[in-house]
Amino acid sequence: MLVKDKIVLITGATKGIGFATAKLFAKEGAQLFINGRDQNALDLVVEELALTSIHKINTLCFDVSDSEQVEDGFQKLFKISKGLDILVNNAGVLGDALVGMITQKQIENTYGVNTFGALYCCQYASRLMQRGSGGRIINVSSIIGINGNEGQAVYGGSKAAVIGMTKSLAKELAPSNICVNAVAPGFIDTDMTASLDKDVFQERINLIKMNRIGKPEEVASVVLFLASQLSSYVTGQVIGVDGGMLI
Ligand code: NAP
Repeated sequence: MLVKDKIVLITGATKGIGFATAKLFAKEGAQLFINGRDQNALDLVVEELALTSIHKINTLCFDVSDSEQVEDGFQKLFKISKGLDILVNNAGVLGDALVGMITQKQIENTYGVNTFGALYCCQYASRLMQRGSGGRIINVSSIIGINGNEGQAVYGGSKAAVIGMTKSLAKELAPSNICVNAVAPGFIDTDMTASLDKDVFQERINLIKMNRIGKPEEVASVVLFLASQLSSYVTGQVIGVDGGMLI
């Protein structure tokens, strides 16, 4: 088991990449804390993962974009676990719009969840990890944060910021034995991409050298690598999980 008994918080774990990651980490022996904004959805995930987990799975229902809720969430986590080994900053929203059409609300929400939310969690997680013997932070960025895309100025900016944050924190936290890395998924089969119309969907597939959409499980396994001892000398990296979309 690659993360046996490790205390792990995964944000946005009710579906998609976060759910696939939680499922894999449960199988690999983690003591899981799963986050989302919907307690019913979290309870359903617990029911499903309990079948494979060797530990009780805890839920932390909070909105990552609200710093007070994040603080409360981490206080609850601390009361139960007294520490944290691994944070997977996965919660994210898409907010596509052409630049002239983007509303202030969209800008605030997208940066609030994707950038500020990830940063708030890094702050509290790093404090807990520094009290212990170190840890791992894995941020879920995006290929759009590296390469950009029409209609995705806000989303791309919010995810590029995650990469800057990852590299800066990797430098700052390495002396505390905390490795900070990011994954940059390409086009993955989740609710986030399900609403695209057929033509756009096919256009995206045409850009992928492997000629298919990725599975959430294929991102989860790279996150697991970055959380495990297999990557003990890796920090400040951004690993693309995109089927050759960006080569
Ligand atoms: P998804 O299926 O829409 O799942 C998003 C998850 O984030 C849900 O569990 C959602 O839970 C949670 N979430 C959203 N806002 C939140 C908030 N304010 N506080 C806490 N949780 C919140 O999306 P996905 O495709 O799995 O995406 C996961 C991550 O991968 C995101 O960061 C996304 O930007 C990134 N990504 C995805 C793709 C792709 O092709 N799918 C590509 C590149 C990067 P609730 O709504 O229940 O709260």
